[in-house]
Amino acid sequence: MSQPLSVVTGGAGFIGSHLCERLLAEGHRVYCVDNFITGSPANIEHLRDNERFTLIEHDVSKPVYVGPDVDNVLHFASPASPVDYLELPIQTLKVGSLGTHNSLGLAKHHGARYLLASTSEVYGDPLVHPQPESYWGNVNPVGPRGVYDEAKRFAEAMVMAYHRIHGLDTRIVRIFNTYGPRMRLRDGRVVPNFIRQALSGRPMTVYGDGSQTRSFCYIDDLVEGVWRLLNSSETDPVNLGNPREMTVLEFARVIRSLTGSRSEIEFQSLPVDDPKTRQPDITRATGLLDWEPRVDLEAGLEKTIRYFADLVGDQRPDQGL
Ligand code: NAD
Ligand code: UDP
Repeated sequence: MSQPLSVVTGGAGFIGSHLCERLLAEGHRVYCVDNFITGSPANIEHLRDNERFTLIEHDVSKPVYVGPDVDNVLHFASPASPVDYLELPIQTLKVGSLGTHNSLGLAKHHGARYLLASTSEVYGDPLVHPQPESYWGNVNPVGPRGVYDEAKRFAEAMVMAYHRIHGLDTRIVRIFNTYGPRMRLRDGRVVPNFIRQALSGRPMTVYGDGSQTRSFCYIDDLVEGVWRLLNSSETDPVNLGNPREMTVLEFARVIRSLTGSRSEIEFQSLPVDDPKTRQPDITRATGLLDWEPRVDLEAGLEKTIRYFADLVGDQRPDQGL
């Protein structure tokens, strides 16, 4: 197999575009399937000249057919920011259910390896801390976040059914909060929000009292873990994330300090069902994949701040940033 063919759904998104880049660097041909619902052509612009890269503009919630033999299907398509999936609840449910079914069908047709991008949200508002893969979670199915959480839980169940019934060679990665260049400036997630607000001198919007915790993983570490998982033989779910945990209020202060901003902190209401704590237990990833994050928070944030500073340019609050 000289040049494996990998299909990446959601390849024009934040994580998907970095993954396409890595697969190309490893010598793969890459078919990027995306409908740009939350992604952007700009994220893959630099890949378009590569003759091993092909863009297929397509909604993966509809059946997807690819001509030549496919070796890997990596299903990353899904709105991922809470703001996005609250605005796109039905599309989110469809891409997690129908999109997963269609991409599994593609993998089955070609006898390809399949990797699902799942999420720490399968643990919901966790009652076990930190979260190991053995924890079944605490999810409100009828709350606003349920559209994302339950779609991903369904997707995991579907992947395991294809594995057990059809013998498909599958992988499930449970991704914890990941950040870096190519996140959308206005996707509403905490990293772009705080950096945009800090760079423009606007108030930094901390939801609730900011005591809820998250653990932030830099994109390069995440992609390395996904690559190792793809090349492993592990078919049970594997957490990938950075175990360094902090409160959202502490996180706001770190970004304010790294940007040299004098933005005030503005407390706003906490979104419904916002998880109170989140920290990955990465014992399995470390043991199975010999993986652990290498980029520390400050170094990763510096790179991300530089990316957003270029986007923000010299706009100031009075210019509507
Ligand atoms: P993103 O919004 O930047 O990327 C998602 C991509 O999927 C976009 O390019 C979007 O246009 C595409 N897409 C959505 N629905 C589609 C459809 N029906 N057909 C084709 N393309 C479609 O988000 P991201 O942060 O890069 O997340 C990528 C994947 O990783 C998602 O599956 C998400 O659930 C998962 N994940 C991300 C994080 C994180 O912290 N970034 C955490 C957990 C899980
Ligand atoms: N958050 C915040 N201010 C913002 C955006 C998010 O305080 O402007 C909080 C949010 O309530 C959550 C955490 O930051 O507790 C992470 O939010 P994000 O939307 O990045 O993703 P989540 O981890 O909730 O999926």
